[in-house]
Amino acid sequence: MKLSFHGAARTVTGTKHLLTLDNGKKYLLDCGMFQGMGAETDALNNEFGFDAKGVYCVFLSHAHIDHSGLIPKLVKEGFTGKIYSTQATKDLSEILLYDSAEIQVSEADYMNKRRGATNGEACHALYTVDDVVAAMSLFETIEYNEWVKIDEDVEVMYSNAGHLIGSAAINIRATENGKTTAITFSGDVGRYRSALLQPPAEFPQADYVILESTYGDKMHDIAFSTIENLEKWIKRICIKRGGKLIIPAFSVGRTQEILYSLNQLELEHRLPELNYFVDSPLGTKATEVIKSYKNDYNDRLQNILKIDEDPFLFKGLKYVDTADDSKQLVEYKEPCVIISSSGTADAGRVKHHIFSCIDGEANAVLMSGYCQPSSLGGRLLNGAQQVEIFGDTCNVKAEVGQIKSMSAHGDSDDLCRFVGCQDTEKVKTVFLVHGEYLAQQELAARLNRKGFEKVEMPSMHQEFILE
Ligand SMILES: [Zn+2]
Repeated sequence: MKLSFHGAARTVTGTKHLLTLDNGKKYLLDCGMFQGMGAETDALNNEFGFDAKGVYCVFLSHAHIDHSGLIPKLVKEGFTGKIYSTQATKDLSEILLYDSAEIQVSEADYMNKRRGATNGEACHALYTVDDVVAAMSLFETIEYNEWVKIDEDVEVMYSNAGHLIGSAAINIRATENGKTTAITFSGDVGRYRSALLQPPAEFPQADYVILESTYGDKMHDIAFSTIENLEKWIKRICIKRGGKLIIPAFSVGRTQEILYSLNQLELEHRLPELNYFVDSPLGTKATEVIKSYKNDYNDRLQNILKIDEDPFLFKGLKYVDTADDSKQLVEYKEPCVIISSSGTADAGRVKHHIFSCIDGEANAVLMSGYCQPSSLGGRLLNGAQQVEIFGDTCNVKAEVGQIKSMSAHGDSDDLCRFVGCQDTEKVKTVFLVHGEYLAQQELAARLNRKGFEKVEMPSMHQEFILE
């Protein structure tokens, strides 16, 4: 059998790994969209590097768009198989994919209007809401920790990855010529000390491990907690300077973690009196879904539920729904906190907030997660004095910062702990994916020292024969 890598290869986005048996059957692990890759992004999303019609089924690890975002395009190009995921992943994917289609269509319209005057080449959305409807009809949900027979050669078991509600590591047993090969794909690995979720679960012994490596070379900042960090930023920017604090945040996962932290401040009577806005209809919907999977919460959060029935709701919190309300908020001059997506600031409503605030010294943009260097968030974090937004050059006068304690990804220690359940001598190869090359090299060296003899860092479209 063969394993090929068509995304998240020496980068952190666009996850797509293809397992091909000798009989030609193809099983796709995630079908993620590339995001924040600058000028390359469109080209990367246009070409899969394999034929969509030839894929037998999709195993989806979790709902984040960099893992699920091209499923509707796969369907549009002729894929008709099943898409396996947990129920929570299906629920979250549904709202994320509809949102993705809507954003693409409206951004294409916006760019086409702007380009109209210059006769530039027209922009096209990768897919529309109709393709999302078709994709959702192919989902088949499975429970954690149960082996499911996919066909006569392949069975699969999802184990909790602790990264997002419903997130899973995908454990595959594929049998060829009487010999079974065990392959585990980590998906994204969560943290063993997550604010909200249960820690990643152990997984069965594998011959091959495909391991994410986002923070392969880093340890999370736990000297200051997220709660203390948020309190300091809110007090400095909003209370002292009277500015607006813009927090770009993924709508699913990160937004709820921020709301939970602000709610904690309220429980401890430390929350500054202000208006707090969630300007993301998707964030609003995702919060409702996440509230309905309380069994996935960790013990600490289960205990908080006993004294606070809604740990994501506090005084001053307002949800912004319509596009008109969002436009009004862009014009709003009072000090406030705005949590809006996307997390890398490359798309979505947050881009408009940054566009209007970035030249004001009193304001701040506080990144809440990892940003690829080429994304708008990444460029701001790298200290750019000027950035291009909607085709305009903007001077960066607002303060830019990052809360590093907040990642939903495990750090280097967490990743090593995750694979710590394996007998290293039985693992033939660890493939590192979903990480920048430098981070991967450090993690590879660390895994070597732990006894994993062979660690590969696949490049885009690289193919490996699994013995
Ligand atoms: Zn993820």
